[in-house]
This record gives sequence, C-alpha cells and structure tokens, in this order.
Amino acid sequence: MAKRTTKVGITGKYGVRYGASLRKQLKRLEVAQHARYTCTFCGRNTVRRHSVGIWNCSGCKKTITGGAYTLSTPAASAARSTLRRLREINE
Ligand SMILES: [Zn+2]
Repeated sequence: MAKRTTKVGITGKYGVRYGASLRKQLKRLEVAQHARYTCTFCGRNTVRRHSVGIWNCSGCKKTITGGAYTLSTPAASAARSTLRRLREINE
C-alpha cells in the first residue's frame, strides 16, 4: 500500500488544527510514546507505555518506571551514572 502521509505521520489525525509547529513538536512525542522499547531484563523488544512514566514488558511481565514519553530520559541516565560512580567511590 502506498504511504499516505509523507510529512505529518501520526499527527495527521489532528488535520489542519493547532498549527504546524505544534503538530511537529507533538509528532516527536507521540512517535516516542507509542514505540516499543527493548526490555533491560529479558532483552526483547516488548516494552510499551502503560501510562505516564509507567512501562510494561509483555515478554516478562515486568513493570518499569521511566520517562513520561520515552523509556529512558537524559536526566534518568545521568542520575544512574552518577549513582554508580558515587557507589564505586564508596567501596
Ligand atoms: Zn522483559
């Protein structure tokens, strides 16, 4: 089947409303929030968003906290690496 939208993608549902720039910003978030992510426990590409910040893996049934729209945020990975570094200093 031919590709129906070349630019708007998932935000085509909003039609011409809300302005092009806002729809463009929103597209990035909506694509990220509906994407599947790789599970850090079982390695399968089965983690999907349940609600804000809550992610479920359908492979191993684990529930993971994460970002509102993506599984991992820059702030989360920064915090994780800082914690790891401080823990290593402590030992
Ligand atoms: Zn899993």
